[in-house]
Parts: sequence; structure tokens; C-alpha cells
Amino acid sequence: MRIKDVRAKARKVIKDISKSSFIEEENLEGERVNITCLGTVFNLYPSGKYYAPFANGNVSLCPRCHGGGRITSKNSDSSNWKIASGTALALRMESISKYGKWAEGKWPQVIIDRLKKLDSVIKTTAPTKTCPYCNGIGSREAYEDEVFGEALEEAARKKGGWITSGEGDPCDIFYGENIDEVVVEDDRKFTPKFAPGQDTSDGETPEQYQEWISKVLEGIPEVHEDEE
Ligand SMILES: [Zn+2]
Repeated sequence: MRIKDVRAKARKVIKDISKSSFIEEENLEGERVNITCLGTVFNLYPSGKYYAPFANGNVSLCPRCHGGGRITSKNSDSSNWKIASGTALALRMESISKYGKWAEGKWPQVIIDRLKKLDSVIKTTAPTKTCPYCNGIGSREAYEDEVFGEALEEAARKKGGWITSGEGDPCDIFYGENIDEVVVEDDRKFTPKFAPGQDTSDGETPEQYQEWISKVLEGIPEVHEDEE
């Protein structure tokens, strides 16, 4: 299957979800969620196989790189590759001894530019390159599964839900949505629980306490949820 079609298939699975298939459940946090089973790994995923990174003997090796993840590069030029690699290494060693580590940001721009050029020559003239058919994974079907899983999660997120696997059987794939609005507790907004004018246990007035809280919170950066 083409990678484009793998993504399209994942999006269709999410698009085809029927609301009537939702089953209301309560999750471990006591929130109400709607859950629907999308299928199993065997009938959803491109490979139709269940495996783990540490037990993937049932996955077929990529026919192009035979599992190595790299293939011979057509632009391979071993003499130029060796020269560029040697020059880049020497230039890096020299720069480190002269200016310190690259990460310290003290290398002159002319050296950085030169290294960028050398790295690009190294990449194009190298004897091998990442296998484009399996994206270096070594198995086409594992690559398709990876793309499918990512596309499924992305489509679920866009629909306002999430993907999860079965607690009983990890081969079952579910789509879920929260029914109640999820209240994200914000520690920054707590207010002291005593009446105005009343002293706190430390002998402070609520106003002093509030001022103290504000000062403490000033040092805490705002936390934003990642938006993809
Ligand atoms: Zn490959």
C-alpha cells in the first residue's frame, strides 16, 4: 500500500465511526467517556500482525534493504565521501581545540558554513542512504503500521477524542471521547479559604497571604498544553 493510502485508510476509520456504537463508561478517574471498538490490530493495521519492538520476528523484512534500513546510494562517490568526511572531522577537532565545544556558540560563521557544505557532500556521496521504502525501519509493513498508528491518533485528536488499546486484549483498538468537559485543575488559581479580615494560622491577614501567593506564583511560568 502507498503511504498516502495508509494515511487515508486511518482517516476513514475515524470518519466512519457511528455515534450509535458508543458505549458509555466511567474511566479510572471517575470521568464519563464514550468508547467504541474500531477493530483489532489484525483487521485494522496494514500488516495485520501484532508484535512488539522486542518480539518482532513475525514481521517481514523490507524487500529493498533486506532489513538493514539502508540501501546503496546511486550518487555514491567513495573518494569524495572519504575526503569530505576526513576534512569535516579534522575541521571539527581543530575548531573544538581552538574555540571550545560547538554548543557554546563561539565558532566563526565561516567554519559553520564550511561544515554545512561538507556535511551535505558527505550525505550525497555516502555509499548508502536511508531506505526510502521502509524509512530505515527495515520492514515495509512495520513502517506502514507506524504511519497508520500515527494517522489514526491524529484523526482521533482532530475529532476531539483519543485512541487506546484494550485493557483485556491489547489487540483491540478503541476510540474514546470524554463526555463531560475535562476540568484541568489549575493550582495557580487557588484562593485561601477564610473570610476577609480573618487571620491565617500563621498570623497573616488574607491580604498578606494573597500577596505572598502572588509573589510565589510570579516565578512559575505559565504552562500551556502542547497543541500537536
Ligand atoms: Zn527498506
